[in-house]
Amino acid sequence: MRFLIFMLPLAASAQVLNVTVLDYADVPAATMSDAQEVFTAIYRKTGGRVVWRVETRVWQPGERVRLADVPGDIVLRICSEEMAKGLTRRESLMGYVQPVAENELARVATVFYHRVEELKGATGSATSQVLGAALAHELGHLLLGKGAHSRAGIMRCPWDTGELRAIHQGRLVFDRVQSVLIVNGIAARTNSGAGAARPN
Ligand SMILES: [Zn+2]
Repeated sequence: MRFLIFMLPLAASAQVLNVTVLDYADVPAATMSDAQEVFTAIYRKTGGRVVWRVETRVWQPGERVRLADVPGDIVLRICSEEMAKGLTRRESLMGYVQPVAENELARVATVFYHRVEELKGATGSATSQVLGAALAHELGHLLLGKGAHSRAGIMRCPWDTGELRAIHQGRLVFDRVQSVLIVNGIAARTNSGAGAARPN
């Protein structure tokens, strides 16, 4: 058996990252709860502790959404196709991280639900599996910082057939180095607010 060779401070692994999921896409309750299991399982394998809370919201066309006041260390937003039209022109985009100033930690990321459903069609996985993995990928961006994409695994962009198959088999995970960085990233965002982003 092989063990992680990285030394982690014990305190770091005890931190719990609070994620608020804002559902603007009217995701069915069973899909959301299964997606949560997929998402949580992916993060459990890193050694990091993540809990999420879902808020269902309704978006009105033209409405500007204010996210700074949403509680939680991290906000993951699931957008409907209609909402996506006002946010991006890149139709192939699965999600993105809300840009912040140079000295701030990004706190908000978005996943497009219609893209999740398209990928589901391509892979044969359940929507919940793709949604959980897509949310895990976007949170990965927030915790790993710039240059988070990798040549393989959950942080590959875009996902290829191998990743899509791995989702289906529950094998799409972070690698060892990413896992260490994620545990440290969680610690940075939960240590007495020291690393918390302060978007305005
Ligand atoms: Zn990405």
